[in-house]
Amino acid sequence: MPDVDEVILRAEEITKIYLVGAGVRAVDHLSFEVARGEFKLVTGPSGCGKSTLLALLGGLDRPTYGEIYLGGHRYSELSENGLAELRRTEVGFVFQFFNLLNDLTAQENVELPMRLIGLPPAEAAKRCEDLLSSVGLADRVEHYPHELSGGEQQRVAVARALANEPAVVLADEPTGNLDSENSADVMELFRRLNVERGQTFVVVSHDEAAHHYASEIVHMEDGMIRRVEV
Ligand code: ADP
Repeated sequence: MPDVDEVILRAEEITKIYLVGAGVRAVDHLSFEVARGEFKLVTGPSGCGKSTLLALLGGLDRPTYGEIYLGGHRYSELSENGLAELRRTEVGFVFQFFNLLNDLTAQENVELPMRLIGLPPAEAAKRCEDLLSSVGLADRVEHYPHELSGGEQQRVAVARALANEPAVVLADEPTGNLDSENSADVMELFRRLNVERGQTFVVVSHDEAAHHYASEIVHMEDGMIRRVEV
């Protein structure tokens, strides 16, 4: 069982102001903690700052104020290269529109993050095989994204997110482009990876059906956390 008391991701009083027009305060003095092995769901109305929060947690963007820690890393101390390295090794991203590379096969998409950190090809191939079979796509390794259904593409993206054994998987509306059956499959897959591997998840979703998969639901409004349901 994962040690659920160990905080691996922490945001302290983060604020993000986009400098457009009069300025948009997308995340407002928000503090947030994720323990190892947790499955957190972040929800709230469109425009309340969910995607911004996820991008900040994943080091895709920097907060205007506040601090974020992942494992032993303090984001404000990292250079752009340091942050990119952290994203490659410690964070797995899953997006609404899958973001697979169209001219790479399923296998090549999943292997790419491993190649980027210099994992030996034989080891990358073995890990990729395990990952694609654990998401139920052992028979689709040679397929290109356009030869896969939406649900299958998202499962490839999940396998890719897990490639470098990240501390946390951050998923932004991962079922937003899927029908209800495929949405349930993807959420079930997350839950299985959470239970079987102790994989930590933070999933942004406004889909009510996604709620019952999480161990905690964080409700956001106007860039702030309004309520937490356990
Ligand atoms: P959600 O994911 O909950 O729909 P977002 O984080 O995408 O919310 O957006 C929060 C607020 O920040 C919205 O008002 C949105 O218009 C604004 N916003 C998001 N991204 C940008 C950006 N790159 N530049 C300016 N404003 C942005």
